[in-house]
Amino acid sequence: MTMAASSVTTSSILLPLTISSKSPKLCLSFPCKNHTLFPTLRLSVTASAASTPTPTPSPSIQTHKPIPSKTLPFRVGHGFDLHRLEPGYPLIIGGINIPHDRGCEAHSDGDVLLHCVVDAILGALGLPDIGQIFPDNDPKWKGCASSVFVQESVRLMHEAGYEIGNLDATLILQRPKLSPHKDTIKANLSALLGVDSSVVNIKAKTHEKVDSLGENRSIAAHTVVLLMKK
Ligand SMILES: [Zn+2]
Repeated sequence: MTMAASSVTTSSILLPLTISSKSPKLCLSFPCKNHTLFPTLRLSVTASAASTPTPTPSPSIQTHKPIPSKTLPFRVGHGFDLHRLEPGYPLIIGGINIPHDRGCEAHSDGDVLLHCVVDAILGALGLPDIGQIFPDNDPKWKGCASSVFVQESVRLMHEAGYEIGNLDATLILQRPKLSPHKDTIKANLSALLGVDSSVVNIKAKTHEKVDSLGENRSIAAHTVVLLMKK
């Protein structure tokens, strides 16, 4: 379709359009509702009338093309996860089976720490979240141990040319006390990530007995990771 100044696409939008306060407004919003690769960004620009009438923006305008990511020396990512705790399930944290009266009810092993570590790495790489990269309706990933997701996210990280600078995780749960297990969790997570344990930090805190986290009905974790260009 011929536009006033030229065809309008995401990649060419800055070139063919001339700012004019009198011209009709053209709003482009991306990503589309089915595409969450990048944070929603709304551009509001005005198109010049040029020598031909300005057409109505076509609904077929492609607004969700991936934007080439910058090659940054550092990239930071954050991950969060929460699982419900129910009797009759194992409690697995960082790949370690922790003795408790209940565990995570989930399709996978419900490893809240490994899930948020994966999301932090994917986030730093500018990739979609764990549920989109490893959908549980894909036979390839269905029923996989969470360690497989960590190893795959590490592979994606190396493929993108990055390595882990350091990783800091905080687990939130009322019970059981994690202090006796922290070193084991840290060693296992470091091995999964292929890094020295000195760049991995595991913290744990209670939720002061309030809400589901504080009532031993759920467990949550946050992770921040710094990636460095190799
Ligand atoms: Zn999870």
